[in-house]
Amino acid sequence: MVIPDYNTETMATRPSAEQARLLEQRLDRRTGALRRLSRRSAFWASTALAEFIVRLIELCVALFITIFLFVPVLLARLIIRRPTGKPVFESKTIFGHSGKPLRVLNFAGLSGWISRLPLFLELFTGRLALAGTTIREWQPVSPDAGQGYVSMVKPGIVSLWDIRKSSKIGHEGREATEWEYIFRKRPLYDFLLMLRALPVMLFAEHEVAESPVFQLLDQKIDNITMREAIGMMQESLRQKSQSVIFFVNPDCMNKSVTDQNYRKALRVADHLLPDGIGLVIAGKMLGTPLRENINGTDMLPWLCTMAVEENVSIFLVGGKPGIAEKAASALEQRYGVSIAGTAHGYFDHQSETGSHEVIETINNSKASILLVAFGAPLQERWIARHRNELHPKILMGVGGLFDFFSGNIKRAPRWIREIGLEWVYRLMQEPSRMWKRYVIGNPLFLYRVVKWKIVSRSFNR
Ligand code: UDP
Repeated sequence: MVIPDYNTETMATRPSAEQARLLEQRLDRRTGALRRLSRRSAFWASTALAEFIVRLIELCVALFITIFLFVPVLLARLIIRRPTGKPVFESKTIFGHSGKPLRVLNFAGLSGWISRLPLFLELFTGRLALAGTTIREWQPVSPDAGQGYVSMVKPGIVSLWDIRKSSKIGHEGREATEWEYIFRKRPLYDFLLMLRALPVMLFAEHEVAESPVFQLLDQKIDNITMREAIGMMQESLRQKSQSVIFFVNPDCMNKSVTDQNYRKALRVADHLLPDGIGLVIAGKMLGTPLRENINGTDMLPWLCTMAVEENVSIFLVGGKPGIAEKAASALEQRYGVSIAGTAHGYFDHQSETGSHEVIETINNSKASILLVAFGAPLQERWIARHRNELHPKILMGVGGLFDFFSGNIKRAPRWIREIGLEWVYRLMQEPSRMWKRYVIGNPLFLYRVVKWKIVSRSFNR
């Protein structure tokens, strides 16, 4: 009896190696196409869903604001203004979607966010978005009119520029910020922008102070923009005159109260620049709103660009051994700036010989800009003491700047800085070193600002 060879039969139906390869390829292509299709449809479905959720949020916010804020304010305005015959609303025309004029209402005689409450009604009509490009007043012939995509996006009650402007870190200017927003615009980004707007509203103000100086705890702080600060340094370099620049944050201001030598060193500065949200809040409390929150880390890219333009080099001194070198190569790579030399900051700052050696290295490098990163108050006292021996034209105290640029310490992401919480990020990174500075220092600073306000008011009477 012949036993049927099962294996032989199956072998005969099996494809050849070449056929199997082709089959595999075909299957791969088919599953690949299917995967791509499902990925694409999943993408469109999730985008549509996200857009739907954003629209739903807009309508909920509009409803909430209308019931709990708009209607009560409207009733109050009617009661107050009707008998006097004054109008309750004032209308203005703004750039709407596609750059077309759009008439909107504000509450007359009010300022700030409360005057903008009627704008939330436009969320129902869909002519304004909750998050979008900045609301700009319409002009028939405007340089803004042809701004392509900027006008293709719906203006929003909240915009990235509004947030940056309120937290005083809009150093790049409105137009660049609008483009950044359009580039990043996604439903999720819009949603996060709306969330970011809430804390920012707490320290938002609408009028910009004309006062060029902000007087705080016996120090005169420059109330200028980043562009102006860089312009001043450029001028110093061109005039070949020396300029000392220090940054002050709440911790520095606290130290200046208890450390007399530091207080004196700060007075040596040609420019004291306000660094951090604490100073923005202090400016608001004292009725001198700051024009910009300027700090060394944000300034460095601008400074490097200016140094390249002026064809001058920078010397970095400070930080642990190796950190200034790492920061130097990062700066050279990123901005193409010439770094004349580096030195670490752990020498004997008190002894003349220790400092003399470092000063000689700095002067021999022929650098025009010197960044000193020993932390406050050491760097300010050192610069004040050796200012006349140092040849560079710009002498700047920059704290932990090299740690950030060398990658030794990570800086808070921009959205955290925008909502004024960079200090929380730093506290979480180095809790044992920072808790005293922030947990005790911040309330102490606010207390001192209040005290300063009372004292300076009674002086001015
Ligand atoms: N540092 C230094 N020499 C010293 C003490 C500190 O170079 O004798 C450096 C330290 O390595 C750090 C910086 O100074 O890089 C201080 O950083 P911190 O964040 O405390 O400064 P801040 O920006 O808060 O003034």
